[in-house]
Amino acid sequence: MPDVFADLVGQDEAVVELRRAAAAAAAVLRAGAAALVTAGPTGGDESAADEAGTAVDPSAGMTHAWIFTGPPGSGRSVAARAFAAALQCVHGTGCGECPGCHTTMGATNADVRMVVPEGLSIGVGEMRALVLRAASTPSGGRWQVVVIEDADRLTEAAGNALLKAIEEPPPRTVFLLCAPSTHPDDISVTIRSRCRVVPLRQPPAAAVAEVLVRRDGIAPDVAQWAASAAQGHVGRARRLARDPEARKRREAVLAVPRRLTGVGAAFDAASALIEAAEAEAEASVTEADTTERAALETALGAGGTGRGAAGALRGAAGQLKELEKRQKSRATRAQRDALDRALVDLAGFYRDALTMALRAPVAPVHTDTAALAGAGAQKWDADGALRRLEAVLACRAAIEANVKPRIAVEAMMLALWKG
Ligand SMILES: [Zn+2]
Repeated sequence: MPDVFADLVGQDEAVVELRRAAAAAAAVLRAGAAALVTAGPTGGDESAADEAGTAVDPSAGMTHAWIFTGPPGSGRSVAARAFAAALQCVHGTGCGECPGCHTTMGATNADVRMVVPEGLSIGVGEMRALVLRAASTPSGGRWQVVVIEDADRLTEAAGNALLKAIEEPPPRTVFLLCAPSTHPDDISVTIRSRCRVVPLRQPPAAAVAEVLVRRDGIAPDVAQWAASAAQGHVGRARRLARDPEARKRREAVLAVPRRLTGVGAAFDAASALIEAAEAEAEASVTEADTTERAALETALGAGGTGRGAAGALRGAAGQLKELEKRQKSRATRAQRDALDRALVDLAGFYRDALTMALRAPVAPVHTDTAALAGAGAQKWDADGALRRLEAVLACRAAIEANVKPRIAVEAMMLALWKG
């Protein structure tokens, strides 16, 4: 297994910072052990511990709460997981070889918890339970690490529960939060003020292509095309390179501009886009839903005939309802994510038209529709291309602000047709 940071694409500065912090964290553990040895026999000689502390200054560079920010696909959760591994690494700062690295990267380390919200928000109950467990002594003797992906989806109450833990962190607990940005809409100002921020940037297409070739064994020309079409989103690039269905969906989205020939066509295009997103989301969650329901029913003793079975089933109704609620929330999220991917592709097309109209010396996002974007650039001019690009971005913003997707997409299609 290569170094744990190997898959963090195009983020050299962040990697340097994280390695330094992991080294400092290891020094904290060593100093702690030394202090224990010194203090051990007498049962707590605090001055000795203090001297050891100031001599090494182990706390410099290490922090109990971190926020990884960056655009989608820049590798926020990849960075958080790699850092978690570096903290558990027994040989260095993420060697990739030792048990600490292996178990963390394989998601089996007992002291590393990844919270992946499946619904639209992370609730207070989930967060309280998490904070409680995070306060326990690490079983591996190093750090308790809690990674919260999409920390921008914390409810306010959950944020407050987390804040309390971050304000007075247990000595061996580290929180790693991932969010698009440190804007107050994403992360509360008070949480932000307690965390160290690691900004990730959109990785350059060449770096994304390189990792697709090296790690996933994808042919260089396909990797280059996919990296460019995915606009710096590593996971999306891999899907485009490997999954013919993903390529087909992208082609359908990029066919939208030439289908917009009138009002009726604009509404048709809106319906097609919404339905495609729904179908894609359904395909992605149905299997998980069925498996979860079956697992829960088995756990609750469905089909059992013993004396406890009837009583267990009465209590089960509530749990099944809870599961359905969570699944519905996840389905909504999956639909929004699918729609957002389509809108990002569409925005790329109009961005190409705009840069061509401006004769800007930049490579097109979608090389395969570059000719079409060029024709658009001639017809619309820079102003018209910019208005269309803005219409797509406005649609994304509206959906993010909870406007009904169909309404937002219809408004966008009309704007794209009229210019
Ligand atoms: Zn290691």
